[in-house]
Amino acid sequence: MDSYQALSKEQLVDKVKELTIELENVQTEKNKQIEQMSRTDFLTKLNNRSELYERLSYETKRATRTKEPLSVVIFNIDEFKKVNDQYGHPMGDKVLTEIAKIITSSVRATDIVGRYDGEEFMIILPACKAENAIIVAEQIRESVELNTFNDEFKITVSGGINQFQGESADQCIDLVEKLVLKAKQNGRNRIESSSNLPLE
Ligand code: GH3
Ligand code: MG
Repeated sequence: MDSYQALSKEQLVDKVKELTIELENVQTEKNKQIEQMSRTDFLTKLNNRSELYERLSYETKRATRTKEPLSVVIFNIDEFKKVNDQYGHPMGDKVLTEIAKIITSSVRATDIVGRYDGEEFMIILPACKAENAIIVAEQIRESVELNTFNDEFKITVSGGINQFQGESADQCIDLVEKLVLKAKQNGRNRIESSSNLPLE
């Protein structure tokens, strides 16, 4: 504090300006962090549900405008409750984090990955037809199947895929969720895609 007493009025004004700018920068950085946190799932650090919804809404509009393909994949972990029951909730959390890593490492940087629900992941694949989305999804399904979690147990995932055809984000999600259910009914550890694939 003493050091400020030696400053002239002009120097003090400059110092106040300097400190104000510094404070504003700290505030801007804090706001950025808060904004980032509001879009991120705390456990997996992937996009959270609301961010996925925003991004999907944006991508459906973009696909409509550009006529580019757009595919959406949802994965649900098979019999995940058993993992929690048998190995405990923290181990379940570890599995979620590991599956998040498998998914992230299998997609392009332009694909949008997130945790859509507790044990459900979504991938939004811009400029990607269902045929190619199926290849990516199958690769992820297989990677999960081949992985041994915590060096002791196996897990599988079921998935649904839809290529966007003009529906709303809500309708698109509904459709993919129905396909996930179909994959469960058809025996799990499989991917179902919408039969109404667009004609070339
Ligand atoms: P299904 O193959 O039909 O999907 O069976 P399931 O057991 O995976 O499905 P169910 O809906 O019965 O159970 C889902 C479980 O996922 C129950 C819930 O406790 C667990 N879960 C959801 N979110 C989290 C989480 O953040 N951490 C952990 N550890 N478990 C979670
Ligand atoms: Mg499940």
